[in-house]
Amino acid sequence: KLYNEVQDLKGNIRVYCRIRPFLPGQSKKHTTIEHMGDSGELIVANPSKPGKDSHRLFKFNKVFGPLATQEEVFLDTQPLIRSVLDGYNVCIFAYGQTGSGKTYTMTGPNVSSKDDWGVNYRALNDLFQISQCRKSSIMYEVGVQMVEIYNEQVRDLLSNDTSQKRLGIWNTAQPNGLAVPDASMHAVKSTTDVLELMNIGLMNRAVGATALNERSSRSHSVLTVHVRGMDSKTGTILRGSLHLVDLAGSERVDRSEATGERLREAQHINKSLSALGDVIFALAQKSSHVPYRNSKLTQVLQSSLGGQAKTLMFVQLNPDVDSYSETISTLKFAERVS
Ligand code: ADP
Ligand code: MG
Repeated sequence: KLYNEVQDLKGNIRVYCRIRPFLPGQSKKHTTIEHMGDSGELIVANPSKPGKDSHRLFKFNKVFGPLATQEEVFLDTQPLIRSVLDGYNVCIFAYGQTGSGKTYTMTGPNVSSKDDWGVNYRALNDLFQISQCRKSSIMYEVGVQMVEIYNEQVRDLLSNDTSQKRLGIWNTAQPNGLAVPDASMHAVKSTTDVLELMNIGLMNRAVGATALNERSSRSHSVLTVHVRGMDSKTGTILRGSLHLVDLAGSERVDRSEATGERLREAQHINKSLSALGDVIFALAQKSSHVPYRNSKLTQVLQSSLGGQAKTLMFVQLNPDVDSYSETISTLKFAERVS
């Protein structure tokens, strides 16, 4: 099959592809990326099979190449993010192998430089600012939760209580709309609050791990922004939420090599990413049964997947030939959920 349609998604699912640049030391000659089109086309070539047969075409709502800035990526995401203020539930997540740029897209490489800010910081900043100065009768309150899902356990990343207590997940039909009601909720009153909270979350993510990268590539982090608006004229209350998700690395672990803890982690990651794929697949198929209950990840995200909710997936790719098989497997995931 030469033509893989990842575009024209049924339902409210959008898929953006982002290809990270070669890093210093990587040879630019060896890329799997053959072509990136302005209307979301991506042609990938198999390095071990030269010639036309090796080419596969994929289509996305948008493809961001290695030169795309954080600002550009954010601008194409902003309308979706702002719809939270109109009462929508929105989920944005980054999918891809470790090293493909998920954290770069969602958080950014360097918090202290505004230009480097990823979607998380920009989204929170934007929502917070608009909610403060919109000339309307609606008064907004913005609150933030941040949890990590590791080995099917949910942990609060913003709690002062550093004990690694497991959190329960409630059915999303809760009146307050909280999927993880026991995770601490933090009101955001300024841009500085936003920065501080996110830094605490990122720091707590490292607790108990020898190397930050190691752990963060094997857990999902979910930043949830809750917005509550009250119309002072009518008294009507409106709620929207935004889930910003940095998923665990999607790479397959060699079963012959992984043992013990590492194998267990890999199995949990595999299970939850498949569950996410199954949920989005069911939604795209307009299936009557959506299997939310198969993983903690899909339970936490339930309110922002399906129904009126809007979903955006960043498909992250490493352009290097060595990543070819992982690149194809990532693209297949994207293809399936379209
Ligand atoms: P992941 O979270 O998927 O494991 P990272 O976001 O940590 O991957 O990215 C891996 C490396 O590539 C980091 O050094 C990161 O700074 C760099 N990188 C990723 N995406 C980009 C990009 N778009 N531009 C420049 N550097 C990037
Ligand atoms: Mg990462």
